[in-house]
Amino acid sequence: MNREYFYSFDKLAYVKGAKPKGCILCLIRDQDPNVIDLSIYRDDLFITVVNLYPYNPGHLMVFPVRHIEDIRQYTLQEEKMLSKLKRYLLDITDNLFEPIGYNIGYNMGQPAGASISHLHLHIIPRYPSELGISDLIAGKRVLVENPRETARKFREKIAQDAFSIMRS
Ligand SMILES: [Zn+2]
Repeated sequence: MNREYFYSFDKLAYVKGAKPKGCILCLIRDQDPNVIDLSIYRDDLFITVVNLYPYNPGHLMVFPVRHIEDIRQYTLQEEKMLSKLKRYLLDITDNLFEPIGYNIGYNMGQPAGASISHLHLHIIPRYPSELGISDLIAGKRVLVENPRETARKFREKIAQDAFSIMRS
């Protein structure tokens, strides 16, 4: 599937200068000036970004600060943090976008569809009025929200209701 289908009108703005070399998630982590920062949350272990090419509005990616490529490389501390962070992100996404469901998961390795080797968890909200796959193929898909606007909403929400590892 052509990812550019989903969101392309602002694509050029993603890379400000020459195309950056290296892992895009590591560049986001390192706040490389040539990469658009759609991050909404950062701590010592994880970074959460709004997907630049969202499948749906509110599509998030959560990735470890460490460049690892397999979920078995997570430390127990990372597992624990991620578990809490996932709950939190679902809560704020529920609050902001009111989806009726989610797809949550990893694509590990290129044959599985991972275009970025740096391990990342997709959190994709699902809505009752989504277009079907035939609409995608017919090119009818229209994204209803600019990812920058999505990131702004998440940041505002997180500023009001911050994540803490102590949350239940
Ligand atoms: Zn990386």
